[in-house]
Amino acid sequence: MNFDQRTTREMIQAVADTVIAHAGELTELDRAIGDADHGINLERGFKAVLAKIDTISARPINDALSEVGKTLILSVGGASGPLYGKLFATIGQHLCSPELNRERVVSACEQAIGVLKTLGRSDVGHKTMLDVLVPSLDRLRATEDPISWHELHLHAHEAALATIPMVARRGRASFLGERSQGHMDPGARSSELIVGAVCDFLETRL
Ligand code: ADP
Ligand code: MG
Repeated sequence: MNFDQRTTREMIQAVADTVIAHAGELTELDRAIGDADHGINLERGFKAVLAKIDTISARPINDALSEVGKTLILSVGGASGPLYGKLFATIGQHLCSPELNRERVVSACEQAIGVLKTLGRSDVGHKTMLDVLVPSLDRLRATEDPISWHELHLHAHEAALATIPMVARRGRASFLGERSQGHMDPGARSSELIVGAVCDFLETRL
């Protein structure tokens, strides 16, 4: 798929709108096992992205994603800002070209998740955003053509639900030890929202 300026803009807008619409829920999830700011942090970040959406979407999709990442790094406080920022920025850097196909997207996401794991010293099973991002990428890699974006969205949802019984090993929730069980990880939910918004967008476009 070739992302023209309008498609790039609409997809970034869809992701930002979805995260902002769920900011209250993300903050409530973070209240249970963190410091009640995850929705506030991401709302600030994605509002900063929307404020620059004309400039961002005037660039090829790869550069646009790098710019989204840089904006999140600069505007989001908390652990999630640098992590999501680096995720988007690395995907953008590794896409290299605005001409996208599954192999290029999977490879760029693999690189970005690798960087995120190093940065956060985290991995699957630590009850973080990685518990949605990694299974979503695994599903994208394994799924047969034509890709069912609806099915991928459901998979991300199930992955977020699967963080509920986990004991947190990274981030503020890890300070709670076993008391972090029984709550969905806020970053897993925001990753589900981001993956889901991209899937819903592509479902209507491809
Ligand atoms: P903070 O924890 O600094 O208040 P946020 O509330 O915005 O930041 O983000 C919390 C989320 O960030 C967690 O729910 C988790 O998914 C993610 N997170 C925190 N630390 C890490 C880490 N080391 N590796 C991966 N993800 C992490
Ligand atoms: Mg927090």
